[in-house]
Amino acid sequence: MNEIEITSDIKIVFDTLNNVGYECFMVGGCVRDFLLNKIPHDVDFTTNATPDEMKECFKEFNVIETGIKHGTLTVLINHTPYEITTYRIDGEYLDNRRPESVKFVKDIKDDLARRDFTINAIAYNPSVGFVDCFNGIQDLKDGIIRCVNEPIKRLNEDALRILRALRFSAVLGYKIEPATEKACFELSQLLKNISVERIVVELFKTIIQPNGHKIIFDYIDIWGVVIPELLKMKGFEQHNPHHVHDVLKHTCVALEGATKDLIVCLTVLFHDIGKPESFTMDEKGNGHFYGHALKSVDITRDIFDRLKVDNNTKHQVLTLIKYHDLDLQPTEKYIRRLCYKLGDLEMVKKLILVQRADNYGQAPIHSERIDKFNEIDKIIEKLEHENLSFSLKDLSVDGNDMIEIGLEGKEIGASLKHLLEAVLNDEVKNDKNSLIDYLNKNKQE
Ligand code: ATP
Ligand code: MG
Repeated sequence: MNEIEITSDIKIVFDTLNNVGYECFMVGGCVRDFLLNKIPHDVDFTTNATPDEMKECFKEFNVIETGIKHGTLTVLINHTPYEITTYRIDGEYLDNRRPESVKFVKDIKDDLARRDFTINAIAYNPSVGFVDCFNGIQDLKDGIIRCVNEPIKRLNEDALRILRALRFSAVLGYKIEPATEKACFELSQLLKNISVERIVVELFKTIIQPNGHKIIFDYIDIWGVVIPELLKMKGFEQHNPHHVHDVLKHTCVALEGATKDLIVCLTVLFHDIGKPESFTMDEKGNGHFYGHALKSVDITRDIFDRLKVDNNTKHQVLTLIKYHDLDLQPTEKYIRRLCYKLGDLEMVKKLILVQRADNYGQAPIHSERIDKFNEIDKIIEKLEHENLSFSLKDLSVDGNDMIEIGLEGKEIGASLKHLLEAVLNDEVKNDKNSLIDYLNKNKQE
């Protein structure tokens, strides 16, 4: 385990409070990450100074008071924000999420006791060293996510902690300690009281981890409380020579093989969710899933609407699910047209990543498909270096150019479309002169 580096900014926070006799510790995620030799994305502090006393101490600095009711003052030091929070305990929880009130306290140990997991409940300052009342350092060494104090009580207070446990397990590759894990399962219904925005954050952070596939699979009954549609995939046998796994296992193995990009991972997670509802069996006993891609699109759209997923993410994922089964051809002309269909080259790249993952999830893997994907990747690389046009906005001419050569009204749009077709068919280069020449020539013919 590592020494914690005290940067000059951190020293300013400590000195400002210590010089007038207050205690101050770094706490939470930053201490955990420092101990794991990771660079924390933010550094948080906790102090026995009350919010008013903090304000007085930092009156020479720029401060933001957004969290002041809960005891948090954000201080800008060299343009970096640092959150400093008064030691506090949470009042009673009535909605499985937010305490009714908070109470400021004078002992760091009480503040650490309100935190979710032992590994997140370690405090540090250079004069005292580590304050680790719940053996978080040992749990970090052993790779364990464990609730601070009694899991049932702690997860009951705030059910979001259930998904936080799963997420930290995915991010760190740690096991959830048995009593904590049992409580996560037992209390999972409480997740219905948690806002969809918080749930989406945890789901998205989980699935892009190298270990995310395992956390989805092992805890599918918990994810199923918030996305019941996922449960239909569990144990749904495919009766198909391309698959030895049921739909959920196939999905999770595919997720394991997926590039850790959010759009790709979301597409993989939901690409086959329509399979159970599209299943038919022929007289030979082979399973078929005709039209499952579109069914998956419909189900995923409903889920995303319910979870208030942003439109851009939704659009990309639904498009990729729709085409996840497309039999791609490794020719330039085909890939150009595919760009047009999907919107741009980036989407084509993502579709290849989805198909690679899908193939990884099938058993046995089709090696000839990997050869095809490699060929397509080469084509994509080539296309990236050319000034190609895949949508009207990429065309090197626009409506004004059409007006300049004397076109009017509907002719303008029709000609632009015509030119795009020609570019996609490789009949003309995407530069202004070639395009205008092409139009003029075609007009004369
Ligand atoms: P990261 O920011 O890397 O996701 P973190 O541990 O910093 O991880 P935050 O959500 O930023 O997580 O919270 C900071 C600290 O506040 C946590 O380390 C933990 O001590 C405490 N905390 C956060 N959320 C909760 C919660 N729901 N219940 C109890 N304590 C919490
Ligand atoms: Mg944090």
